Amino acid sequence: MREHLFGKTLKELNDLSVKLGLPSFTGRQLAEWLYKKEVSSFEEMTNLSLKARALLKENYETGIMSPTDVQVSVDGTKKYLFPALEGKFIETAYIPDGKRHTVCVSSQVGCKMGCLFCMTGKQGFQGDLSSGEILNQYRSIPEWRSITNLVYMGMGEPLDNLEEVLKSLEVLTSDWGFALSPRRITVSTIGITPAMLEFLNRSNAHLAVSLHTPFEEERRKLMPVQQVYPLKEVLKEIKSWDFGRQRRVSFEYILFKDFNDSASHVNELSRILQGIRCRINLIRFHPIPDTPLESPDELTINAFKDKLIAKGITTTIRASRGQDIWAACGLLSTKKLADK
Ligand code: SF4
Repeated sequence: MREHLFGKTLKELNDLSVKLGLPSFTGRQLAEWLYKKEVSSFEEMTNLSLKARALLKENYETGIMSPTDVQVSVDGTKKYLFPALEGKFIETAYIPDGKRHTVCVSSQVGCKMGCLFCMTGKQGFQGDLSSGEILNQYRSIPEWRSITNLVYMGMGEPLDNLEEVLKSLEVLTSDWGFALSPRRITVSTIGITPAMLEFLNRSNAHLAVSLHTPFEEERRKLMPVQQVYPLKEVLKEIKSWDFGRQRRVSFEYILFKDFNDSASHVNELSRILQGIRCRINLIRFHPIPDTPLESPDELTINAFKDKLIAKGITTTIRASRGQDIWAACGLLSTKKLADK
């Protein structure tokens, strides 16, 4: 298979143009075609010489690929499937909500992290996505021109694929790339401390940390990462990081019935998050096969939110979207595999 151009930085496009003996401005022309225009083949890149197009075609593929399947929810959410390694699939969710149109991209095929509540984790790890494969999930859905927000919250742990994720962020936010504001982009992590610091240093996108319980012992049961990168270290780094006025840190908190939904959890959350200007996003749990975890009822969820707000923590409950199309991360691709 020939190497893909989509997802490469301007510098990489310049370097490969020079290597092919093409004029130095070809790199910038390629970036224009790949990231600003609606073309998917070299033939369509009409300001390149015929020789340049032939050379590029001989050595590269554009790497712009359409999804192979889409499921549409009654609430307008769509779940796209893109083919990935060895007959596996990755999922991309498109979530329209008034003026806000969000795309949720995957960063890996499967995941190594083994979180107890996660269908992708149950698939195991098959491989990292390249920057181009990450960006293609944004660029190749029909709604891409209307996207206002991008979240790295699909399959995989983005910071376990740090270099490709950072590269994709560079393409998204550079003026030669998609020129999106980093304030429109959120990268989620379960808290891999060294990679998180790299990300904070080398990007301006928002950070979302999966918290799920303030108690370290409990968190260990949910998320094996806790044993290697304890929450208190993650929070220590966040507390000492200067996020400035524009950059946001938020905490994701999936509520599990009789596990992490008590008043003592509220109190401890308030204690450990003291000094961090942040928001907590409460997430309803949608049960997956083979897990004892359940979601609390709506009353409990709302009461939990109110108690956090009373403690002075900005808290929202994330709307459940696309339940009728298995929109929870990892479910659809697992089903697709089972159907094969
Ligand atoms: S929750 Fe995220 S990090 Fe944990 S197993 Fe699932 S995809 Fe991986």
